[in-house]
Amino acid sequence: MTYYIFVTGGVSSSLGKGLAAASLGALLQERGFKVRLRKFEPYINVDPGTMSPFQHGEVFVTDDGAETDLDLGHYERFTGVAARSTDAVSTGQIYSHVISKERRGDYLGATVQVIPHITDAIQEFIVRDVEEDVDFLITEIGGTVGDIEGLPFIEAIRQFAHGAGRGKTLFMHLTLVPYIASAAELKTKPAQHSVKELQRMGIQPDILLCRTEKPLPESARQKLALFCNMPPECVIEARDVETTYEVPITYSQAGLDEQVLRRFGLEAPRPNLEKWHTIVDHFRAPKRHASIAIVGKYTGLKDAYKSLGEALTHAALAHEGAVSLSWIDASTLENHDSALPMTEIAQRLSSFDGILIPGGHGERGSLGKMAAITFARENNIPCLGICLGLQLSVIEFARNVLGIKDAVSSEFSDEGTHLVGLLTEWDKDGVKETRTSGTPLGGTMRLGAYTCDLVAGSKSHEAYGAARISERHRHRYEVNMAYAQDLAAKGLLISGVSPDGKLPEMIELKDHAWFVATQAHPEFKSRPFAPHPLFLAFVGACFDHEHKKERAL
Ligand code: GLN
Repeated sequence: MTYYIFVTGGVSSSLGKGLAAASLGALLQERGFKVRLRKFEPYINVDPGTMSPFQHGEVFVTDDGAETDLDLGHYERFTGVAARSTDAVSTGQIYSHVISKERRGDYLGATVQVIPHITDAIQEFIVRDVEEDVDFLITEIGGTVGDIEGLPFIEAIRQFAHGAGRGKTLFMHLTLVPYIASAAELKTKPAQHSVKELQRMGIQPDILLCRTEKPLPESARQKLALFCNMPPECVIEARDVETTYEVPITYSQAGLDEQVLRRFGLEAPRPNLEKWHTIVDHFRAPKRHASIAIVGKYTGLKDAYKSLGEALTHAALAHEGAVSLSWIDASTLENHDSALPMTEIAQRLSSFDGILIPGGHGERGSLGKMAAITFARENNIPCLGICLGLQLSVIEFARNVLGIKDAVSSEFSDEGTHLVGLLTEWDKDGVKETRTSGTPLGGTMRLGAYTCDLVAGSKSHEAYGAARISERHRHRYEVNMAYAQDLAAKGLLISGVSPDGKLPEMIELKDHAWFVATQAHPEFKSRPFAPHPLFLAFVGACFDHEHKKERAL
């Protein structure tokens, strides 16, 4: 039997609803239950892949090729359950589903309305594609209670609970209890108001999770319980913590999982949070340090490279160390139409133990990124290239080592020698038919999980410890395999290829401490308790670099 938990948020955005849902999922898992998490987004975009990372943070990609919200990344990292395309639903998808039904004539002439048609569709999407043995389905409703866009979702979950029975559903509301310094007091009024707003729409929260920077005094808890019409033990303190991996520990200590089970009349052994404590301990007392420069484009918004930061942290924690990450806007390594002189690049980058070139789109900053690649290549600095990072590594090498001065990606220019381009542009034997996903060639993204074979004895092979791997992709352009031999002759090995041998998936430099790049986005698959092998190897190389630097001093 499946129990349904709905997570809403009040007062303000950015309170960590996604983390709260993910943490509750992890706690229930630690008590032996099977969970699935999903997210409903009030925005109208049908495909979050079209939204700028500057505005909305990272686009998280699932194995089955959906471009989703970054909260699905939290869910995967915290529970280890791989998300699917059906776990992320937007208003746009619901409307387009209802509208296409209307076009097909499925409504038999009825007037199609928000209630019941949109709300019915939301309810269908809540339970769509959930395995029978899932004990808890946790659904997060994006946005803040009171938003106009969120109204159909709130009404749909109210109706859903009515239909499924209140004994099978639970409403958890995350709210803010701010500390007002001038009064030296925590204030409960905003939380009361957000609960009132929910009640007005027919929803009585069962659990009130209170984000606060100070301990929640008993008097505040009693007040919230009285005015929100709930037992005091269901008003749960959610205090600020140093690292997100501490959240499940503090929520459990505050009684969250216990109250959820009590509410459903379930019993289960207390969760064993040993492994969470271990990573928090490593976080607090790292034994080694390294600093990594991430030379990218969306460096202004912390969330734009969310999974990347997490993957580096997971790897550092597994090495019982810490990495400090410096986000460098690649265009600051450029001056007008050229990269800064190498002496200036060296000044900017020589203090780092590793350089990472992340994924991205468009030409802006590419000269700066390539200058960083040149610096890493020539100075034996560990370097990891991801997606665009791989493409630029190949172009940099072609320009500066093979002497193909006009080497470029067709993403940036129609002119020049296209070492990177759309598959459709090349008329070399067989290359045209390589895309296997069934999508039309050209102009479409290669999305989701693809298999890759690694060259025996390569650093990539050594890092993964496996000959065949699968990683998630999100890109349009590919390196032209026709240059493989020329590149290899000068020291750039294509160390991973698609099983048909036609798409280069990984590259590395033969005569370098550690310079590896991948066409995929391995960061999406890293988890705190299963750090990603490629990040482990890269961060390991950065720690070695730091160690050598110290010895040289
Ligand atoms: N813009 C490049 C492409 O579409 C790289 C994409 C990426 O880095 N995710 O191929």
